[in-house]
Amino acid sequence: MSFAKALRCRKCGQEYPVQPLSLCEFCFSPLEVSYDYKAMARGLSREKIAEGPLSMWRYRDLLSVVGDVVDIGISLTPLVKADNLGRELGLDELYIKNDCLNPTYSFKDRPVSVAVTKAREFGFDTVACASTGNLAASVAAHAAKANMKAYVFVPSNVEPGKLVGAAIYNPVLMKVDGSYDDVNRLCAGLVQRYHWGFININLRPYYAEGSKTLGYEVAEQLGWRAPDCIVAPAASGLSFTRIWKSLDELSMLGLIEPVNTHMYLTQAAGSSPIVNAFQAGTLHVHPVEPNTIVSSIAIGNPADGYAALMIVRQSGGGACAVTDEEAIAGMKLLAQTEGIFAEATGGVVIGALRKLAASGSIKRNELTVAFITGAGPRTQEVVADIIQPLTVQPTLESVQEAIGVPV
Ligand SMILES: [Zn+2]
Repeated sequence: MSFAKALRCRKCGQEYPVQPLSLCEFCFSPLEVSYDYKAMARGLSREKIAEGPLSMWRYRDLLSVVGDVVDIGISLTPLVKADNLGRELGLDELYIKNDCLNPTYSFKDRPVSVAVTKAREFGFDTVACASTGNLAASVAAHAAKANMKAYVFVPSNVEPGKLVGAAIYNPVLMKVDGSYDDVNRLCAGLVQRYHWGFININLRPYYAEGSKTLGYEVAEQLGWRAPDCIVAPAASGLSFTRIWKSLDELSMLGLIEPVNTHMYLTQAAGSSPIVNAFQAGTLHVHPVEPNTIVSSIAIGNPADGYAALMIVRQSGGGACAVTDEEAIAGMKLLAQTEGIFAEATGGVVIGALRKLAASGSIKRNELTVAFITGAGPRTQEVVADIIQPLTVQPTLESVQEAIGVPV
């Protein structure tokens, strides 16, 4: 069963029945799933969650789905104590939430699993999305599993590895001659024309809910507590808001103590409208024209930028941007200290972490969780300079000569 009782406008409070709809018809603000938390609390306990499956679906009572879920084999992802990286950055209690290890190699499998499940509940036979690449792969994979048709739209500059990562599941793959923001605008028009479940448009409230499982999982893996600090990337800002909401909900339901987590948001410097607004001390997020290699989070006009910014402020956190060079250095540092090959977005997170630790914003003894949301191999061309193998003959002498270490 589901405790979702309505869709509710974040701004004016207007309520709507649970349906494929993402914007308030009165004030055009985003709609969110609202729950009967009292009823939810009665049946929920740490023990009951622990008895559930070893995946995000152990939290299904906190999500909005009713029947069978569309599941491509998602499991809990590791929360790694990052001692080597922590030593490098001066942080004693650093953890990495490694969400590279989802079936399609990014955290998108969480929101998409919920959204495609809802699409099927609503009777859609076709799903679609606007994507910078990772979402397209996840939507196509879930559609394959659910025997649904998929139309996925990506910007023209998407990396070849991401195209393969989506195309292998055989969706209708559309490469749009424009930026992600152009793709998003196009899809906002298409949703009026076609009876499709657009994962991040008319199904956006449910899509958003799936990202809450990132926060639930971290709190449970820490022994039912919220971190002191969280560092997470922001593209549209949506998942950032849901990580916060998840901790807030766990606290409201009495599953963890009141939350005092400082939320730190990070973006690539070439596409950092939310960071810009934070640094300018304004709540108005001015759109920018993205210019960065960190394509997964290159969204110039973030739909949930305002909401993310409010959370940064209210939580006593912060926001910082990272150059492409710093992001690549962050990718290498994470791989070479913790054995995790993240995409460039992960490099942005590590670059931000380095700055926040160096400036004293995050203190040495604070329990800090950095969210790594996508894997590196799909966009490996950004670190092609690391390929410098020693070429040798198949002889002992040749190896000895190459490594310069005498026997
Ligand atoms: Zn409204």
